[in-house]
Formats: sequence, C-alpha cells, structure tokens
Amino acid sequence: MTAGATLTIDLGALAANYRLIRQQVSPAQVAGVVKADGYGLGAALVARTLIDEGCRHFCVALLGEAAALVPHVRGEADVFVLNGLLPGDEAECATLGAIPVLNSLDQIELWSAQARARGRKLPAMLQFDTGMSRMGLSPEEIDRLLATPDVLDPIDVRFLISHLACADDPTAAANAEQAERFRAITAHFPGVPRALDNSGGSFLDRGHFDLVRAGIALYGGAPRAGANPMHAVVALEARIAQLRTIPAGTGVGYGLTFRAERETRIATIQVGYADGWPRCLGNRGAAYIGGVRAPIAGRVSMDSITLDVTDVPAEHLFPGAPVELVGPHQSIDDVANDAGTISYEILTQLSRRYDRIVVPVTEGAHNRSLAQ
Ligand SMILES: *Cc1c(COP(=O)(O)O)cnc(C)c1O
Repeated sequence: MTAGATLTIDLGALAANYRLIRQQVSPAQVAGVVKADGYGLGAALVARTLIDEGCRHFCVALLGEAAALVPHVRGEADVFVLNGLLPGDEAECATLGAIPVLNSLDQIELWSAQARARGRKLPAMLQFDTGMSRMGLSPEEIDRLLATPDVLDPIDVRFLISHLACADDPTAAANAEQAERFRAITAHFPGVPRALDNSGGSFLDRGHFDLVRAGIALYGGAPRAGANPMHAVVALEARIAQLRTIPAGTGVGYGLTFRAERETRIATIQVGYADGWPRCLGNRGAAYIGGVRAPIAGRVSMDSITLDVTDVPAEHLFPGAPVELVGPHQSIDDVANDAGTISYEILTQLSRRYDRIVVPVTEGAHNRSLAQ
C-alpha cells in the first residue's frame, strides 16, 4: 500500500440503496444522479451498477460530464444534463445524444433551432422554478410559454421537472408549496411525465410523480434529518504512520493550537486537507482506532493529521495500525456535522490519492428492506 488511506466503495450497498429508494417511491421510477463523478465515487462505476438494478435514467450537471458518461451507458440508459446548456453547446449535446434540461425560454429556442436544423425532434427535460430561484423557467417565462406552446413543437419533452429547496426538512412549508406550484404548472401539459423529488423529497410522506432524481441517498448519505435508513457505501481507513509520547504542556501541529494537558500519545496519519479531509476539523473532529474515539489534536495539515490516542488501548497502536476515518463508528454525516457541512461535500472532496477498493455486488447481501 503506497497511498495514505484506502477508500472502500461497496457496490452491493449502492445497489441496495437503489432498491430501497425504488421501494420508497414506487410506482415512480428512480433516476441515478451521478454528477461530480458520481459524488466522488466514479460516475461510470455507479451507473453500471445501477443499470444492473434496472436504472434507465442518469443525471449529471454538466455537458462535459455527460460526454464522459454516455459511452458507458449508450443504448441502455438516458443521460440528462441538469444545468442545461450554455449558448453554442447545442450541437455537441445533440451529437452526443445527451438530453439537456431546458431552463429558460432562450434555451428552449436554441434547442428547437437545433432540432429544426437536424430535421427531427430532439428530447429534453423542461424545468420550472417553483420557488428555489436557482434554475428553471421563472413564473413570467412560464406564462409566456403557456401563451405560445408551439415553441415546444420541435422538442420531445420527456419530463417536466423542478427542484425542492428544503427537501431534507420534512417540516418545511416550502415542500408542499413547491409541490402545489409544480402540480398547477404541469397540469397544462397533460400526459407528460413529471419529476420533482431528490433524495430528501423521495422520503417525504406523499406521492412522488413519475420519476425521482436520487443522489446522496444512493451513496449512503442521510436523505433527511433523523435516523438514516440507507446502507453505508464508503469506508475510509488510514494507517498510523508514527507514534510519539509528549509531556504535558507540549504543543502539536501548525500554530501549536493543541497543548497537551497531560502526558499525551500522539499518532500521525497520512491524510490531510489535500485529501478532502476538512481543515476546519482541526481540534474538532476525530478518528476511531480499535473502536475508540481519538480526537484530532491540532490543525489538519495538507498531508497529515495528528490524533490524541492517549485513551486508545496500546494493542491498537503501532505503525501501520488501521485508523477508521469513515466506517461503523463515524458516518459521512457524522464527519459533515463535525465540519459544519453536509455529507455531499465530504463525498465530493474525496481524494484521488486514496487507494480505492471496489467491493462488487454479491447475491443476497444488503437485503434489508425499509421498515414498514
Ligand atoms: C443534485 C441534484 C439532485 C440530487 O440531489 P440529492 O439531494 O443528492 O438526492 C436532484 N436534482 C437536481 C436538479 C440536482 O441538482
């Protein structure tokens, strides 16, 4: 092993999470959101796993991400570009066979022109802004579209979509307000399939239209506050590089921001902020060794972290000993909470420097169903 830590990606857990979400939103279908290279895990790897589970729709954010993914799924699944296209990218998208989300009247016009130039209808998702003010047709644009619906004639509208601002909080009034607006707007397009929910929305206690776009829950992140029903997909294990014992009063790390209050054992591991371990976890976060919590002592360096292992039994402390950064004692949500961020950021920052172990799907594993 030559890397500082090993990232294990459990494809069986990913597949099981896909099945859990499908059960949760049935009869709606589940699209796999694989933007940001599959939330850091590898978009093609994730997509191939989900295709085996029956997934036929994938969402990325950018046209470049679609270009990387399409060759891996061509003929088996559609790839949607959530952020839509910048003017001038239409020909490339159409040639690739990726399907853009149209987020404005201008984008509709440019995609229609592309379709006319090719002499055939081109597929698209059409997004309405129902209250997040990020992407999609504004209320004024929606009115103009409804007054001139034939601008959509050259377009094969596959799905009408919108996106929830507060889906991770089931108590937020915005969830019902956005769903109501979405229902009212989409009523003008009878028969066109609809997709509103992300992971959080998929766990709201109501119907889920025709398709959900699931990201974080596939990867084991909690889709909402409270108990997490998903299987853990990633584990991250470092190794102790060096151990030392320092007397009370000794400082540790850059800025000497940690001062030993007692004789203290320090273990140094080879993961740092360059590996996506948040620098703000200095003197805040922890790792687990032999199941015992070892707090981070001092600042997170670029390539290393110092842990206070004074309370860890000596049998677990030796150069090369395993150190759990993400695993049974510390989830990606735990790390995110300590860092004041969300699991999405922890996952998408995971380093390319880690050794990666991919555990294939095995029959019968992870067969747990959602509690009824
Ligand atoms: C990222 C994204 C999703 C997936 O969100 P999760 O919370 O990860 O499930 C769905 N829809 C859109 C438009 C997105 O940008």
